[in-house]
Amino acid sequence: MTRIFPEDLDAGLATRAIHAGQRPEPHAGAIMTPLYLTSTYVQDGLGQHKGYEYARGKNPTREALERNVATLEGGRHGFAFASGMGCLDSIMKLFRAGDHFVVGENVYGGTFRLFDKLLRHLGLSFSYVDTRDPQRVADAMTPATRGLLVETPTNPLMWLCDLSAMAEIARAHDALLIVDNTFATPVFQRPLELGAHIVWHSTTKYLNGHSDMIGGVAVVLEDALADRLQFIQNAAGAVPGPFDCWLALRGTKTLPLRMKQHDANGRQLAAWLVDRLGESAVIYPGLASHPQHALAARQMSGFGGMITLDLGSRERARQVLEGVRVFALAESLGGVESLISHPFSMTHGSVPADVKQAMGLTEGMVRLSCGIEDIEDLVADLDRAIG
Ligand SMILES: *Cc1c(COP(=O)(O)O)cnc(C)c1O
Repeated sequence: MTRIFPEDLDAGLATRAIHAGQRPEPHAGAIMTPLYLTSTYVQDGLGQHKGYEYARGKNPTREALERNVATLEGGRHGFAFASGMGCLDSIMKLFRAGDHFVVGENVYGGTFRLFDKLLRHLGLSFSYVDTRDPQRVADAMTPATRGLLVETPTNPLMWLCDLSAMAEIARAHDALLIVDNTFATPVFQRPLELGAHIVWHSTTKYLNGHSDMIGGVAVVLEDALADRLQFIQNAAGAVPGPFDCWLALRGTKTLPLRMKQHDANGRQLAAWLVDRLGESAVIYPGLASHPQHALAARQMSGFGGMITLDLGSRERARQVLEGVRVFALAESLGGVESLISHPFSMTHGSVPADVKQAMGLTEGMVRLSCGIEDIEDLVADLDRAIG
């Protein structure tokens, strides 16, 4: 089982990001974790091996990434997967037919699709609720509820949920609180410290940060839960290749540094957009006008680089989406480069139109992932595109 090196917890977050989970390689002392391109490991004798038997089960490059992210999240065990969705699919294998889940109604479109188009047919059932209101969450829990799955802030509506309140509700019902921490990252929010059982990420986004791989990772504190996840990771086999792990591990070294700049650019751009478009057009948890700004300030140590604009109509959204030159029109987020997207038709294309309508996800919405370029260039780019 990939358990963190406990001594790594003695260091601050930036130091952990660079060193946690990694030790100089024993042959030459290479400071960087080698890329272990191997499917199997030679055994000294029958039943005598170095803890590695077959690479679906364990790979040292993967272990370094798992330890690194687990330490950043304040957990004890990490499990890397081939994608964020592969990670969630494996987490859901902890459960069995008949189990019920309460899910945030504005979760990532792919999460909704996995539940609605695949797992529902395997006997799991899901209730979608507005997790901004803990009372609604509590009311949706049933005797069959085994998990509460939330995201905060959500994509693209930037709804927050109170993770301590969610943990209390989950524990009162013997359910697991499972938090998608992709948006905030452990730099700004650590759900395990607030009572979550499982934290997971699309490492594709901020953790890797360079838009050159797809991956997922789950982190837990409890040993018994870790045993079950490790069994699933090996048995179901949605594991990442070592090179993707190596890239993500390179990425996490600069995570605190990058998040600082994403946050600085996000705050400045959001303030400028309020001046340019008016308060009601800009959704960003760092703005005092955000209805949950107080919760954001309490629960997060930064607000990040994700901003949603409500431009009023699909035509107006198209004008901005097609008018930018520094921002690139693309799905995904969290890379060093700025991206712009149309959630209604892109990330949330698989969510039924009436469901989107009901939660206020409109065709005029545009989502910005502010990169770490010079803020003046991002401002000038949007200024030109807004016209
Ligand atoms: C991208 C994303 C996912 C899915 O991860 P993949 O790596 O694309 O499979 C899940 N949750 C959030 C919030 C995401 O942004």
